Amino acid sequence: MAAIATTPQALKTLHPLIQSAVPVWVPPSLQHHDRSNPSSDGAADSHIQTYAGSLSDHLATLWPHHRAFIFCLAAGATTRLIAPLLQDKATDPAIIVVDASGDYVISLCGGHQGGADQLARLVATQLGATPIITGASAQQDLPGIDILGNPFGWHRGSGNWTSVSATIAQGKPVQVLQDAGSPLWQAHLPAGHPFQFGFSEASTAGATQKPSEDSSKEQTEQPTEAPDPQARIWISATQRKFEATSAKVQWHPRVLWVGIGCERGSSRHLIETAIARTCQASHFAEGAIAGIASLDLKADEAGLLDLCEARDWPLRCFTAETLRDIPVPTPSDVVLAEVGTPSVSEAAAIAAATSDPSESPQLQAPKLQVTKQIHRLEGEPGAVTVAIAQAQTEYTGRPGHLALVGIGPGALNQMTPAAKGAIAAVDAVIGYSLYIDLIRPLLRPGQIVEALPITQERARAERAIALAHWGLSVAVISSGDSGIYGMAGLVMESLSQAGWDGASPSVQVYPGITALQAAAARVGTPLMHDFCAISLSDLLTPWEMIEKRLRAAAQADFVVALYNPKSKTRLTQIETAQSIFLEHRNPETPVALVQSAYRETEQITITTLGALLDSTIDMLTTVLIGNASTLNHQNWLITPRGYLGFHRD
Ligand code: SAH
Repeated sequence: MAAIATTPQALKTLHPLIQSAVPVWVPPSLQHHDRSNPSSDGAADSHIQTYAGSLSDHLATLWPHHRAFIFCLAAGATTRLIAPLLQDKATDPAIIVVDASGDYVISLCGGHQGGADQLARLVATQLGATPIITGASAQQDLPGIDILGNPFGWHRGSGNWTSVSATIAQGKPVQVLQDAGSPLWQAHLPAGHPFQFGFSEASTAGATQKPSEDSSKEQTEQPTEAPDPQARIWISATQRKFEATSAKVQWHPRVLWVGIGCERGSSRHLIETAIARTCQASHFAEGAIAGIASLDLKADEAGLLDLCEARDWPLRCFTAETLRDIPVPTPSDVVLAEVGTPSVSEAAAIAAATSDPSESPQLQAPKLQVTKQIHRLEGEPGAVTVAIAQAQTEYTGRPGHLALVGIGPGALNQMTPAAKGAIAAVDAVIGYSLYIDLIRPLLRPGQIVEALPITQERARAERAIALAHWGLSVAVISSGDSGIYGMAGLVMESLSQAGWDGASPSVQVYPGITALQAAAARVGTPLMHDFCAISLSDLLTPWEMIEKRLRAAAQADFVVALYNPKSKTRLTQIETAQSIFLEHRNPETPVALVQSAYRETEQITITTLGALLDSTIDMLTTVLIGNASTLNHQNWLITPRGYLGFHRD
C-alpha cells in the first residue's frame, strides 16, 4: 500500500496513516514539512519518502508492486494519473481518494476485487471521515458478487461477472445453485435480496455425468409465482462452460483433495498434466482444488513440492499405517508390497478430505469423486496416479484471526478508531445482540453477523474460535473493555484449553472504555485516587470470595466500582455490599449510580452510601462508591488528588 500527498495540507491529513506505517510519497518540496509538525515523531518521518521527477512517472514505477494507492489529491487529478495504468478489475490495485480536509474517503476504482471499498471504510475509520462507496451492491446492502467467496477462500471461476453484477444492480432475480462450500453467506443477506436458491445438484457433479450449462434446470423448481431468474451463479466444484455473453458465473469452493502417487523423479510437468487431465475428464474445476495429498515418503518429491509451491496448494502427507486402514475402491498388492499400503492416491485423498480440523465428526465422510487414474507422458520418465476426494468443508487457505474488541460503553464516538477499524476489517462479527445493535452502523454488506443471547457467552467464544480456526477473521465484541469482565477472557481461556500455539489463529485485543471510566466521567472525577472494581456476580465466582474482596476494599478505603450489582435473580448482593461498606465508611459517603452510560437510556443518580438502595439499580448500572475524601459538590463527585489533606513537605 502507498499513499501520495502533494501539498502540506494533504500530508497533514494523511498523518494518522503515516503513524500506522503506511508509506507516503511526497515531492521534494514537502520533504521536511512533516518534521515541523509538533505531533510528528521520528518513527513517522521514516514513512515519508520523496519522489523525483513527475508523479505520473513515479506512479508507473510503483504500480506493479502495490495492491492499493491512497491519493490525497483531487479526484479528477487522480483519475488522469491512473487512467493510463488501469488494465483489468481482476488485477488493478485499489484506488482511494481522500479530500484535502480529510472529511471524505472515496473508493474510486477497484472497489470489489481490488478491495478499495473495504480500504475506504478502514481509512475512513482512521481519519474519522465518511467513506464514499458508489458501487451498486453497497447501496443494496449486498456483498459484491465477485468477492462473495473471498472470506472462504473460494476461487473465482469463469463467467460474465459484469453482466451478473448488472442484473443484481437492477434488482432482477438471480438464481444461485450451490452444491459445495459454506452457505454461511446466505444467512446474512438483507430482506428483499434478489437471490433465488436452487436445489443442490451434488448428485450430478463429478466423474460420471457431463454437466451441460443447463443440467440444473430440471432439478430447479421455483415456486410458480417466482419471476424467471435473469442471471445464474453456480457455487460448485464442477467446471461449467457457458457463452461469454450470458449472465452466468461460477465460484469454486476449494473442496477437492487430489491424492497423488508417483514414481520417484516424476516431473512437475507430468504431475500437473495428470491433474489437469483428470479434472478435465471429470468436469472438475482446478480452482476447486484444496490441495494435494500423498504418502509421507513423497514429502520430499521435488516435482510435487515445486508444483504445490507454484499453485499455492498445501501438501498433506500421511503414513502408510494411516493409509492402509482406509477402505478404497482400487487397492493394489503391488503397491502394498512396495510401500506398505495398498493405496496411496485414493487413500490419501480420502484422508486429506477428512483431516480438516474444523470438520465435525457427524458430517458425512468425504466422497471419493474420482478413482485412481494412471498417467504417463511420452518422452517423460515416471508415472503418476491421481484420485480426487471431496471434503464437506472447504479449505480456506487463510490463517484466521480473532479481534477481541471492546466497543466502549455505548455511543460510537466513545469507541476507539482502532476498534472501529477492526470491526470494519473482519469477515465475521460475533456478540450479544444488544451490542451488535450498538455498532450496527459500522457493519458492512456481506459481513457475517452472529448475535447470540447474553447467556451463551461460552458458545459465542467457541463459535468465534471455530470460525477463526477455519480461516475467517472474526471480531468478538464486548461492551466496555473486552478484557474486563468481557468476552476476551473467555476466548483466551478456551484457546489455551484447546492447546493454542499462541500464533494461529492470530489474536489482537482492542481496548475500550470500561464502564467504570464511563460512569466516572459522567459524574465528575470520583476515580482520582486508588480505586478497584468488584463484580457482584456470583455466577462464576464464589460469593465468599466476593465478600472478602468487598471487605478488603471497604477497609482499605479504595474508591470502588461495583459491576453487575443486581439482576432479576440476584437481588441481595448489593444489600450485603452496602452493609459491609457501612461498617467502614460514613453513611454520607457520596455514591453514583450510573445506568447505561453513553446510551440513549442513560440514567444518573447521585446519592449516598446510606441511601443507595432507595434508587433503581439493575444489571445495566455501575455503582461508584467514594472514599473517605470524596466530595459531592453541586452533584459532581470529586475525589481529591491528595489524600485526606495529606501533603509531604
Ligand atoms: N466489559 C464491560 C463490563 C461487562 S460486565 C466493561 O468493561 O464495561 C456488565 C456490567 O458492566 C453491567 O452489569 C454494569 O455494571 C456495567 N456496565 C456495562 N456497560 C455499562 C454502561 N454503559 N453503563 C453503566 N454500566 C455499565
